[in-house]
Amino acid sequence: MSFRFFENRDCEYYPCHKAERINCLFCFCPLYDRGGCGGNYRMIKTESGAVKDCSDCILPHSEGGYEYIMKKLNKQKGVSRMSEHLSTEQVKALDKQYYMNTFGDRIPVSFIEGNGIELRSAEGDVYKDFFAGIAVSALGHNYQRLTRELQDQVGRLLHTSSVYYVENQAKLAQMLVENSCADRAFFCSTGAEANEGAVKLAKKYQVEKGRPEKIEFITLNKSFHGRTLATVAATGQPKYQAPYAPLIEKFIHVDINDIDGLRAAVGDRTAGIMIELIQGESGVHPVTQEFAEEARRLCDEYDIAFIVDEVQTGIGRCGKLFAHELYGVKPDIFTMAKGLGGGVPIGAFCANDKFASAFKPGDHGTTFGGNPLSTRAGLVVLDELLNHGVLENAAKVGEYMGKELNKLKEDCGEIAEVRGAGLMRGVEFKCTIAKDIGNKLLKKKILVGVVGDSVLRIVPPLIVTEQDVDILINAIKEVL
Ligand code: PLP
Repeated sequence: MSFRFFENRDCEYYPCHKAERINCLFCFCPLYDRGGCGGNYRMIKTESGAVKDCSDCILPHSEGGYEYIMKKLNKQKGVSRMSEHLSTEQVKALDKQYYMNTFGDRIPVSFIEGNGIELRSAEGDVYKDFFAGIAVSALGHNYQRLTRELQDQVGRLLHTSSVYYVENQAKLAQMLVENSCADRAFFCSTGAEANEGAVKLAKKYQVEKGRPEKIEFITLNKSFHGRTLATVAATGQPKYQAPYAPLIEKFIHVDINDIDGLRAAVGDRTAGIMIELIQGESGVHPVTQEFAEEARRLCDEYDIAFIVDEVQTGIGRCGKLFAHELYGVKPDIFTMAKGLGGGVPIGAFCANDKFASAFKPGDHGTTFGGNPLSTRAGLVVLDELLNHGVLENAAKVGEYMGKELNKLKEDCGEIAEVRGAGLMRGVEFKCTIAKDIGNKLLKKKILVGVVGDSVLRIVPPLIVTEQDVDILINAIKEVL
């Protein structure tokens, strides 16, 4: 299973998200992929479709060709990457001594490389990734077009400042606006920052309207909006708030889908309602259609902002570009992050003109947000989603995954409920076995998320195939 490498031949697999590309971690020319060969090396497959060992420029990888060529490349560059990876145990020891202990004991594996939905650990084990770094790696790992375009961008320009005009930033804003209900966008670096910006914008709108006393926000219990002080306050989970009390903003939490509670909470001091349409972090809990519509209606009635946090649900995760499209409700402001950069940190909040125009020069800003590198990543991700079939794939495979998980629920007695949409699914067990199942899947080299004691969170890259889903389903069957 090796490809031949030739000089000056075109790669027939560009942009390489085909199944052939995904199957093997090493079926590519490392020189070309890593920008080290100046574009001279291309891979091809033999005419029969089979692969042939290379006698032209490298050894077959079964005989160490990959390591050989990497060493050669690294020597040229004066670096030695392949030989310098630490084992998982070594990384763990460094982490224990030098990193702040906010993550506790982590899952004991350190990854050094990825391709498609596969990740390779420092020990050389290959894992199938149905977690995507918590719903981030929308295009999987080392997606050829993203890799190449980022390499190109790194070779040109990483950062200027938003005191200047930034081409990629302007283009990405245009792309988001033209493909959503928003009129304007603003870029930042994380989901929390995007939500913080959304809250500021909603508040500023009230100030502009001469209602500065409107400072309260309604969010949901079991929500998750981030880790900054304001977004921790927005997050409806006491465990995240307790260490930082008293919190700086006034957030009132109501239960998900409690329409009466929502109505009762809105008052003269309310500036906005902020919700996730499908709560991710607490175990994939969707709001009902009626709840979403009532939130929209109340915001219209009180002239306050309806903010939808799409940090996790957005960018194709639920089978549409944004989850609010599934509900047919238009938020005034919506936020995103995670999938937007395919792994490069970027967040954004978008708003309709009514709200966006509340920000005047100087009202908000950022040093890193929307820089040429992160927005180039966003441009590639959105273009792949919208124009190269990735969004269609997410919708199709997402539906298949939902169907297969529901079948699994019918066939085995352990599953209480399957929730979610598209490629964002929660599997709730009747007993507290989620951690155990997660660990057993890990042993089978399958990565999923575990929420609390009884829920698996499955959020694979959007390039996942039905065959990959079959592997996951069979693996869950085997460990149940
Ligand atoms: N909002 C939602 C719905 C999230 O799921 C998350 C992260 O998991 C955030 C906000 C915070 O994003 P970040 O960790 O990038 O700040």
